[in-house]
Amino acid sequence: MSAIDTLPPLRDVIATHGLSARKSLGQNFLLDLNLTAKIARQAGDLSASDVLEIGPGPGGLTRGLLAEGARKVLSIEKDRRCLPALAEIEAAYPGRLQIIEGDALEVDPLAHLTPPIRVAANLPYNIGTELLVRWLTPPAWPPFWESLTLMFQREVAERIVAAPGSKTYGRLAILAQWRADARIVMSLPPEAFTPPPKISSAVVHLTALPQPRFEADAAVLSRVVAAAFNQRRKMLRAALKGVAPDIEDRLISAGLKPTDRAEQIPLEGFCALARAVAAP
Ligand code: SAM
Repeated sequence: MSAIDTLPPLRDVIATHGLSARKSLGQNFLLDLNLTAKIARQAGDLSASDVLEIGPGPGGLTRGLLAEGARKVLSIEKDRRCLPALAEIEAAYPGRLQIIEGDALEVDPLAHLTPPIRVAANLPYNIGTELLVRWLTPPAWPPFWESLTLMFQREVAERIVAAPGSKTYGRLAILAQWRADARIVMSLPPEAFTPPPKISSAVVHLTALPQPRFEADAAVLSRVVAAAFNQRRKMLRAALKGVAPDIEDRLISAGLKPTDRAEQIPLEGFCALARAVAAP
């Protein structure tokens, strides 16, 4: 295997800086730099983009992104033990890597990034879904990002790309597919990580659409979908009782059967229902 850069192997980096993995920070590291470069390639042509990375850890994916030619990488890391290792990468790629020490849920990275912006990360499992939902529900569309290339637990990845009728179809699928194309582009077994987690992982690539696939008010759609899937085994007329007093009429005017269940309704149907609910 050829090296992707002249920095030391990640096992040595971890040993030198004493980076024993902490479960509380969701630390499952990728140590194979050919694998991290492959993940970076899934993010598309990086040469004209700034890349936002959450949780660089010892820097495996960061090095992959830089070796694949990212114009600039901005990495936000909560664990200050990782900072000396990341500083070595910064020195090897002058002017192309910026590290912010902090909590990705609190730091606003936008002041440090120039569009076009892509997001790429092996996310800490405990905040992965929350970050994705935030990126999918900005105040205005299109969002700040052109694409998201994100590692999730396999089960979460399946919920993002799920189709109607499947057990994993729900709020996350609708949020993701309403305004983005979402695909699973890689699957990784537990052994790809150090330490290995209990479950498999997958990389999801999402590309922002210029506008939503079907017209709907984001807040109304979100309310309708949350109510429908909160009681996913119930018929829509029961699950959505709290959404509008005349929900049966509104379901019918949206072309849906009040006796249908959320799991069967395609994205287009939920958008029609959101429009019917928002109508006077
Ligand atoms: N990118 C590295 C890799 O692929 O080997 C590490 C990935 S590891 C799954 C998740 C990383 O996110 C860890 O380095 C962890 O310290 C960091 N992290 C956890 N919670 C965070 C938070 N709230 N904000 C920023 N980084 C966080």
